[in-house]
Parts: sequence; structure tokens; C-alpha cells
Amino acid sequence: MKYKPTIGMEIHAELKTNTKMFCGCKNDPDEKKPNKNVCPVCLAHPGTLPTTNEDAVKKVLKTGLALNCEISEYSQFDRKNYFYPDLPKGYQISQYKYPLCGPGYLNIEGEKIDITRIHLEEDTGRLIHSKGKNYSLVDFNRAGIPLMELVTEPCLTSGRQAKKFCEEFQIILKYLKVSDANMEKGQMRCEVNISLKAISQKAGKPEAVSHKDHKGRKGQKDERALGTKVEIKNLNSFKAVERSIDYEIKRQAQLLDKKKKIVQETRGWDENKQITFSQRIKEEAHDYRYFPEPDLPPIKVGKEIPSDMDRLRDNKIYLLDIKKTMPELPQDKRERLEEEYVLPKGQVKILVNNKDLGEYFEKIASELQEWVKTEEGKEKIEMSEKKKLYKLAANYLITELQKLTKKSENENIIEKITAENFAELIKMIYMKKVNSSAAQKILKIMYKTGGDPSDIAELEKLLQLSNFSELENIIGVAISQNAKVVEDYKKGNENALQFLIGQVMKETKGQANPQIVQEILYKKLKV
Ligand SMILES: [Zn+2]
Repeated sequence: MKYKPTIGMEIHAELKTNTKMFCGCKNDPDEKKPNKNVCPVCLAHPGTLPTTNEDAVKKVLKTGLALNCEISEYSQFDRKNYFYPDLPKGYQISQYKYPLCGPGYLNIEGEKIDITRIHLEEDTGRLIHSKGKNYSLVDFNRAGIPLMELVTEPCLTSGRQAKKFCEEFQIILKYLKVSDANMEKGQMRCEVNISLKAISQKAGKPEAVSHKDHKGRKGQKDERALGTKVEIKNLNSFKAVERSIDYEIKRQAQLLDKKKKIVQETRGWDENKQITFSQRIKEEAHDYRYFPEPDLPPIKVGKEIPSDMDRLRDNKIYLLDIKKTMPELPQDKRERLEEEYVLPKGQVKILVNNKDLGEYFEKIASELQEWVKTEEGKEKIEMSEKKKLYKLAANYLITELQKLTKKSENENIIEKITAENFAELIKMIYMKKVNSSAAQKILKIMYKTGGDPSDIAELEKLLQLSNFSELENIIGVAISQNAKVVEDYKKGNENALQFLIGQVMKETKGQANPQIVQEILYKKLKV
């Protein structure tokens, strides 16, 4: 039997704000001391009142704009009631009926992934289960940290696609400076829901597929029940997202082939065994008894261009103000880098995924551009040669530097080598002032000391010897000392020439320009 998988995702991301969602406590995900960033509000003491963190709201709206979402003019918080020890209020302030962002989409490799909604809520505390103890401890530092939740339509079709979607979403969050989205630190957490539907053999087309229980939220398109949905929770790496889905597709297909029933349940991912395992069986949808949060006013978003009066009178967030802060998005940057610098896709990917490195590259490129414009450059370089310079810069930045920095981070490079010095080295390579092995040596020293490449080249005697008469003398000596080899060459042994070039390189400690050496040798040894 053939099956069509239907996959939906829920992704949580902790927002990068100074303070928590509803109080003035510090939002510090790196705080190690338990219960340090807490106050009566986030500990839910009686009589306390929450206030909305406007920065968090703006960050969600910004994300919505980046993901082509409809932005709601009216939005409100709801209470999601459930009991758990890491939730001091006994309910979580979330959004149910009126989320900040409605339907949107994100293109992944030409496929449109539909987004149902993005809303804002608060994170819970953290339980610490000590080994061998009959109690657990609670750390409320995380309680009340602003948490954004993105829900997709059940429209994804493979583990690979889901992984690509998560990756792109993470890059967007980083570009927007909305979240650090570090999955290992739990700043971004993925959940998957997945069901399989047999493809009708006759028609070769799947019947209408939709999840039975996709939280029944507004905006879910289709409620026709088909295929039992299984949830996989707590996926904390992109690989885990992809592999758990692939595994689950296989597992469910095997069960269906044996005419067995798929149980509606929540499963976890075992990283060591690379399998999903049952965590709890969902007998019926949880009733969270949502109702509007009475302690917080609704959020109003203005889509108009506000006058000064409007700003004074209306308590609104204006979309115009947020649009002004939108950076270039990753996909736009990809297209621009490909076009402007004519770089291969692989290099563009590295420069876009690593925003700092991409910005560093563009600084080097603009240095090179300036150089081309100067008189010195103009004499020697045609404008069309710029592309060669960019290519050289990208190769040295991505390939050569990575050899040196395997263990360290890219920020290191940016701190250690200025864009000016990096560009200078590229110019030297381009002008054949240094050969590639010398360039690698210089780069290594630059990485260690951060020095100027021309100074290093001179000091280390790495400048290429291109002086004709000087080289002619050295080559003359090499010829006279190797009469036998010269004879071999004249008899047609091409390897003999390579040997002579090698002798000259040795004599000049690698500083000779091998092309010029070859040229002179050809001339001198002409039969
Ligand atoms: Zn607090």
C-alpha cells in the first residue's frame, strides 16, 4: 500500500527581550542560579497584576510580517487553564481566539508552506528532577519569559521539508533579532504532528486529508477526519525533526500494512536508538477552558499612517513603525548575493546562514570595489574582473579560513582580521604579489596576530619574485647545474621541466612566480 504523509508543525521560540512578558524581571536564559529572576507577578502571588511587554508584541508582529502573515488589528490574551507544578498561576497566559498574526506562508525550495497563525504566550518554569531523590525542584527563572508559537497547516510532506522549514525559520528569527533560537538551549523547540493516508490505488490520488484534532483553532481549513494523528514532542535539533518524521512514516506505514490501528498519542524521540517511543496516549482533546484574560487590555494594531494626534490619542502599535525596522530577509539576501557577486549557491548559503560572516564578506567586497575605482586599480583591472576578485575573496574567507578556524567560531575571524586587511591580502593575491602557498601562510599569521598582510609578506620574505632579470640569473644557474635534466627535456621528457621549476622554487624559497619561471625556461631551452 502507498501512503501520503501529512505533517504539521508547532514551533516555540523564546523572544529576546530585556524583561519578561508580564513583569519587569530580567529575561536572561543564561542565568544559572535558580529562582533569581523572579518577582510576585511571575510567581503569581495573590493581588498582583500583569502588564504587557510591548517589545515582545512588536517582535511577534515583525516575525508575522517576515512570514507574509495577516496581521490582526485586534488581538487579545486568553487564559489556558491546566495544572502543572512549573506553572504557578495554574493557567498560562496565551492567545487563543485572537492571535497577533493570522494566515501566512513561507516558501521552501519553491514549495509554499502555509502558516496558520503566530501567537504570543509566556513560558513555564523548569522542573529539576534530582537523581535518587523522591522530590523535584522548581526553577522559575524561565516562568513568564515571552514565548512565540508558530503553527503551520498540516501541509508538509516529508522529514526533509520539515527540517528545511525549521532551518529557514531559525535564520529568519536571527535576522530579525527576535530570538537567538538556539535549539540546544531550548530557545527554539519543535513539535511535529503526523498522519498517514492510504493513496487510492485506482485514482492514484489521496483522499482529502486533514487532521482530526489540530487543536480545533480558528483558521484550520479542513475538519474532515482522516488519518490518526500522532504527535512527536521535544525535538531539539533539526536532525531530530527530520529523522523522527522519517521514522514515524515508516512505523505507521508498517502498522497500516498489517491492518493495525494507529493510536492517537504523543511520542518522544530517542536520540540514541533513533526511534520514536510512546509517551502518553491521548484519549480525548484536553479541555483548557480558555477564556479572555481579564487583567490585560486587548492589543490594537494600526495599519494606517498615524498622525501625531493619533499617536497621542490611540493606544496602538503602528505597523508602519515595525515595517521601518525590517531588515533584508534571508531569501532576498540569497538572491542579491548570487546576482551581485556571482557566487556559487554553496558559498551563498554559508554567507546567508552565518549573518555576521556574510556582513564581513560584504565589507571586504566593498573595500575591493573601492580599490577597483582608484587609479591604481583602474590601470590594472577591467571592471568585469571584479567578479574574479569577489570569487577569490569568498574562497579565502570560506575555504582557507575555515581550515584555520575549525575549532573556533567565525566571530573570531571578524574580531581578529579587519575587513581592510583581508581585502588587502586578496588584492596581493590578485596582483600576483604572493602565490597561493604564501597567501595561506600570511593568512595564518594574520589570524594569529591580526597584522597587515603587506608587512607580514615583507617580514617573512613571502613576496613573489616576478623580477625577470633576477629570475633569469637564478634559472641560468639551475640549467648549468643540471645538464643531464636539460638533455632529458630536450629529448622530450616534460617531467624534466617540472624538476627545473622545482629547483628554482627551492632556490628562491618558494618566492618565485612559477608561471614566469616556466616562461623563461621555455625560452631558454627552446630546441
Ligand atoms: Zn517577575
